[in-house]
Amino acid sequence: MTTRIDFDLKPSAQPLSAAEREAVLADPGFGRHFTDHMVTIKWTEGRGWHDAQLQPYAPLQIDPANMTLHYAQTIFEGLKAYRQPDGSVATFRPDANARRFQRSAHRLAMPELPVETFVEACDLLVSTDREWVPSQGEQSLYLRPFMFATEVGLGVRPSNEYLFMVIASPAGAYFPQGVKPVSVWLSEEYVRAAPGGMGEAKTGGNYAASLVAQAEAAAQGCDQVVWLDALERRYIEEMGGMNLYLVRGTGDDVTIVTPQLTGTLLPGITRDSLLRIAEDLGYGTEEARVSTDDWQSGDADGTLTEVFACGTAAVITPVGHVKSARAEWTVGDGETGPVTKRLRDALLAIQTGQAPDPYAWMHRLT
Ligand SMILES: *Cc1c(COP(=O)(O)O)cnc(C)c1O
Repeated sequence: MTTRIDFDLKPSAQPLSAAEREAVLADPGFGRHFTDHMVTIKWTEGRGWHDAQLQPYAPLQIDPANMTLHYAQTIFEGLKAYRQPDGSVATFRPDANARRFQRSAHRLAMPELPVETFVEACDLLVSTDREWVPSQGEQSLYLRPFMFATEVGLGVRPSNEYLFMVIASPAGAYFPQGVKPVSVWLSEEYVRAAPGGMGEAKTGGNYAASLVAQAEAAAQGCDQVVWLDALERRYIEEMGGMNLYLVRGTGDDVTIVTPQLTGTLLPGITRDSLLRIAEDLGYGTEEARVSTDDWQSGDADGTLTEVFACGTAAVITPVGHVKSARAEWTVGDGETGPVTKRLRDALLAIQTGQAPDPYAWMHRLT
């Protein structure tokens, strides 16, 4: 079944000049600059998806009683386009983001955008703004598809209209000074998600709930917060907006362990990709429940050698130090471990086209 939608093309009359764009790309940071265009598609009850447009990037006018502002019916995605060695551009697993976007929509009682429309919308924006895709090392163009309720009114129920959008932002290397391990605070007071809640959905509300805990982590001198399960506050779930991996063993006998998807964790595409890559690198893989006690004792007896977090934005971030209300310890030797580094290099090599793509993950733009 094809559900092709025709996009109305309204390119910008005033795109940034090449010189201005190059100045931005010299130091893009993350999420600070946006490309010349955006994609919009409307959905209305009874009519479905319609009015798809590529248009100049511009502010939106929002009614004060817009439902999203009050009840947070909004979801998003994050994926990257990478410049390939031959100059072409490819996105990483956009179909996986499209399917997760559908699952998020379902959880928030929103309409599901067809997978092919999601991918087409991303392709259209990237190909229009392809000059914005950086070509230096680990740089990329970060795509932010999102959808929110646009009905006006304060009654609490699903909106009868929505706006889907894609915007794009050039992203520098996450660690321009080289990969550095972060310190984490185990959040035993605040939880990110509870069983039956929205933890599996990529929705703004989960991030709103996280900010006070992130502030607490910072007050404790830590870079990031680690979420524990809501019921027992014992099992590790995620780090900030990233999934977690623990490394057991060394040399030829390494197993990487990630918290199993219980419904309260966000099913990361980076997490999923690393399970595949790790197996091909000869590592054992395990999805399991891991308690904070296991983490601490594993570091104490040396069986747990490395810990890292993973997600689209930073790819892989090593964890060097752990702190909670009761304890504090160092992971391994506190430095970036060899397994963390090898997995990071292997994934980035596929994304930047330096290595073959045995899983057909790269979606090349024509
Ligand atoms: C987006 C996200 C991740 C990482 O998902 P990726 O698909 O790997 O980018 C992990 N945790 C949370 C809470 C997220 O929102």
